[in-house]
Amino acid sequence: MVEHYKPQKYKAWELTLEERFQEYFPPLSEREAVTEANRCLFCHDAPCMTACPTHIDIPTFIKKIATGNVKGSARTILESNLLGATCARVCPVEELCEGACVLAHDHKPIMIGRLQRYATDYASERKIRYFEPGPANGFRVAVVGAGPAGLSCAGELAKRGFDVTCFEKKPLAGGLDTYGIVVFREPVEVSLAEVKMVEELGVKVKTNHAVGADVKFEDLIAEYDAVFLGVGLGAVPDLDIPGEELSGVVDGLEFIEQTKIKPLHTIEFGKRVCVVGAGNTAIDCVTIARRLGAERAMIVYRRSEAEMPCYHFEYEFALKEGVSFMFLTQPVEVVGKDGKVEGLRCVRMDLGGPDASGRRVPIPIPDSEFILHCDMVIKAIGQKKHHGVLEKLAEFGVKNSKGYILVDPATNRTDHPKIFAGGDCVRIRGEASTVMAVQDGKIAARAIYEQLVGSGAARKAESAASKRK
Ligand SMILES: Cc1cc2nc3c(=O)[nH]c(=O)nc-3n(C[C@H](O)[C@H](O)[C@H](O)COP(=O)(O)OP(=O)(O)OC[C@H]3O[C@@H](n4cnc5c(N)ncnc54)[C@H](O)[C@@H]3O)c2cc1C
Ligand code: SF4
Repeated sequence: MVEHYKPQKYKAWELTLEERFQEYFPPLSEREAVTEANRCLFCHDAPCMTACPTHIDIPTFIKKIATGNVKGSARTILESNLLGATCARVCPVEELCEGACVLAHDHKPIMIGRLQRYATDYASERKIRYFEPGPANGFRVAVVGAGPAGLSCAGELAKRGFDVTCFEKKPLAGGLDTYGIVVFREPVEVSLAEVKMVEELGVKVKTNHAVGADVKFEDLIAEYDAVFLGVGLGAVPDLDIPGEELSGVVDGLEFIEQTKIKPLHTIEFGKRVCVVGAGNTAIDCVTIARRLGAERAMIVYRRSEAEMPCYHFEYEFALKEGVSFMFLTQPVEVVGKDGKVEGLRCVRMDLGGPDASGRRVPIPIPDSEFILHCDMVIKAIGQKKHHGVLEKLAEFGVKNSKGYILVDPATNRTDHPKIFAGGDCVRIRGEASTVMAVQDGKIAARAIYEQLVGSGAARKAESAASKRK
């Protein structure tokens, strides 16, 4: 049994509650940004740019910082990625641009994410508007879901002159950037500023409008020239074990959401918290619990360290926060007294051969049950699919596989000629991330433009845009 818990001194508790939830990395000063930008080799065919899913011209934006043109630097970023301020904070840069940087092997890679944040914050603080709505082309598009995929698609369409309405079921737009990404990585204000930028392009964002309930899919398909689905995924699934109804068992996404929209001192947390799962959501939940004040916060995961789905840097962060890890441990019952959680009954596991996905299958070890004492259990074992929505869409010929909408990756068009989709709801393989959702929205916007306005016009407009750079 591997358990990395050390009852060490926890530095975050020396801060006030509010300070613990400030952005983890401070912004770069002008001097730091220029010094870092001047380390860049401004590579030809830069590998960092190829590694960025939205293909931001990284050497150009860094060069602009080095030469004092920060306003132009932010333009370069936002031309490729309207959500550049979010991506600067949340992108797994070690796996993408910074991982590909030619300086990664010998020295330290360029801090591309922090430089991108420096430039986009500069533009946001000064309320610089880079883009205007394109000349009206007479076409109307409905976007379902105002997360990164929907906002990116909506904004790119508005730049091309479409009349776009975005329907969002939550009270605030921004998707998981607003409600899901831990606040010490991305403050809500950054996400809402991006929503505002998209609205300033003329996009009508209708919050508290759930498509399928408040608005009918058939009406959207009949009334609009194209529909983009950026509905993401749903709530955390149940653990399907006895005791789940006890007070103190919570949905991980709801737990994170509270820290984004409620005063921190009003959030209930346990003194001893067990988080079930080992993906990025689980790491966010367990580190939040620690920062709120949990004396002991642990991850309970049925496989081993090697199979954990979270990013490695997230794992390291959690270890630094004093989180403990119970690997090869499967919860089988939440135990409680007087309706409240008192512990998690678990069995120890061993790993067998690989399953269809290539991951080794966990097998329970007989007679190995034990109880982890805790007063809160947070469920963080992935996200449900929107089965109701998928069934409805199937009536229009939109196919799905394992709960993910099927699209042609070149256009993000579904089997229905008017319906496009992108973001987490189509990401059947590989990691789902904000930057990929943004790129999906861009691909669909271009395809909608080509389909409705014409590919000749699309090419002409894009070549004119690249000349303006
Ligand atoms: C806890 C957590 C932490 C994460 N951390 C990171 C990170 O650090 N870095 C990173 O790159 N990625 C991270 N991700 C992944 C990233 O947030 C997603 O990949 C990204 O948000 C996907 O964007 P999307 O637009 O497809 O979906 P979402 O962001 O989920 O947005 C979908 C939107 O559609 C709305 N919607 C759904 N159904 C309807 C309907 N019927 N009608 C109207 N609106 C509807 C939803 O309310 C939501 O606003 C994290 C994910 C989670 C869960
Ligand atoms: S690979 Fe590194 S050094 Fe080269 S342009 Fe990109 S950030 Fe600069």
